[in-house]
Amino acid sequence: MTASTRRPVVIGNWKMHPTDRDSALGLARAVAQATAGISPEVVVCPPAIWLVEVATVLHGTEVGVGAQTMHAEESGAFTGEISPLMLAGVAGYVILGHSERRLYDGETDEGVAAKVASAVAHGLVPIAAIGERAEQRSDGATERVIERQLRAAISRLARLEGSGLVVAYEPVWAIGTGDAASAADAQAAAALIRGLLREADPGGADEVRILYGGSVAPALAEVYFSQPDVDGALVGGASLDADSFAAIVRAAA
Ligand code: PEP
Repeated sequence: MTASTRRPVVIGNWKMHPTDRDSALGLARAVAQATAGISPEVVVCPPAIWLVEVATVLHGTEVGVGAQTMHAEESGAFTGEISPLMLAGVAGYVILGHSERRLYDGETDEGVAAKVASAVAHGLVPIAAIGERAEQRSDGATERVIERQLRAAISRLARLEGSGLVVAYEPVWAIGTGDAASAADAQAAAALIRGLLREADPGGADEVRILYGGSVAPALAEVYFSQPDVDGALVGGASLDADSFAAIVRAAA
């Protein structure tokens, strides 16, 4: 599989928005309408409380539904958590290891590894998020951080082939700041990731979709998607506006 045969995917991470049900369902409907008939795969990841209803609204449309996190275990004494068994049948995708969860919720490389393996085992597409913080970048540690986080994320997968794995390269300093990485930097990170995936599983690496995330806006989007190893985007802020999100999806087409 090559860049030309990997299907681009644009994923909206709604984070902790919208705060009311009607707005959440309205946004889901608007995204389905605005992106209908455009070829890239489109996924929205609403807050957990809206997952079931958003999935119902999007049933029969081309827009997939993802969760923003999950627990690795199927059940147990894990207050506040959602298990892969609960997600399967509602969501097809799950973001794992987002930098905000690493920062505020203590997610570790080991925890992300367990979740990625669990997602695959339960038929969910894991969107493994990795990326360096600003100080790591200024210390020249970008490649080391990417390598460590990526190796950990895939460490419990027997093979990449057929796993559906999506890797989102999201430099933390670019998230929500308006300071997006250059297309050249995004491609350099994606090529590094592709190389590491090839080392782990030469047969399966080329089917893994690698996304860029971090302040992606409609005007900037196209330049990322023309990079050979960038297969789409993970979009935060701009995914809360259906027209902006659809413009990014069109740029990926
Ligand atoms: C994100 O949180 O995954 C993200 C990329 O956010 P934003 O697009 O707002 O930078």
